[in-house]
Amino acid sequence: MSNEQEKHQLKMQKRKEVLDAKIAKATEERGVLILMKGNGKGKSSSAFGTLARAIGHGQKGGVIQFIKGRKHTGEFLFFKNHPQIDFNVMGHGFTWETQDKQKDIEAAQKAWEKAQLMLKDPDLNILIFDELSYMFKYGYLDVVPVVEALRNRPAHQNVIITGRTMAIELQDIADTISIVQDEKHAFRQGVKAQAGIEW
Ligand code: ATP
Ligand code: MG
Repeated sequence: MSNEQEKHQLKMQKRKEVLDAKIAKATEERGVLILMKGNGKGKSSSAFGTLARAIGHGQKGGVIQFIKGRKHTGEFLFFKNHPQIDFNVMGHGFTWETQDKQKDIEAAQKAWEKAQLMLKDPDLNILIFDELSYMFKYGYLDVVPVVEALRNRPAHQNVIITGRTMAIELQDIADTISIVQDEKHAFRQGVKAQAGIEW
């Protein structure tokens, strides 16, 4: 073996030992709360990618989309009739289009009632609350009971919450937080939003 090869092997062996020690330490088995935040593109699509992953393993999932500009997103059309998924889009449409605050608040509360049922259902392995964070930002929902319900959910249940900004109270109880950073977006170069990429 050349000197170079030997050095490489030693380096890799050390790296493996460090990694194995970390893996040996991670022994806890429980569900996690994942937050996908930030101004870049990829938060909701990450959540739905994870949902597909869970469904592939035979798990059951619940989805609530709290704000949606378009009713017929690709994720809705793809997952809505799936026997392992309970998919819900919040009743009253888009905030900026409707500009009817009272109706928005009612819709948010109805969606939250459904979310609460999901957070009590041990048969649901994974939940996605898409754009939930806006509900706090606009004052449509109170964050305290949401934190309470998340804390009391079944121990094995995974939850993913998306939204550009996140309430600090959610960040405090989250296990995993990823920030999707906006470095470039086609929209700013004049590219029109398209099916399959944007919705
Ligand atoms: P995606 O659903 O594609 O994963 P997202 O959930 O990260 O996106 P949202 O804040 O929910 O992003 O916005 C949804 C829509 O806005 C998507 O169509 C996305 O392409 C677009 N979008 C996201 N980030 C930006 C941005 N920085 N500039 C312009 N449009 C954006
Ligand atoms: Mg989104």
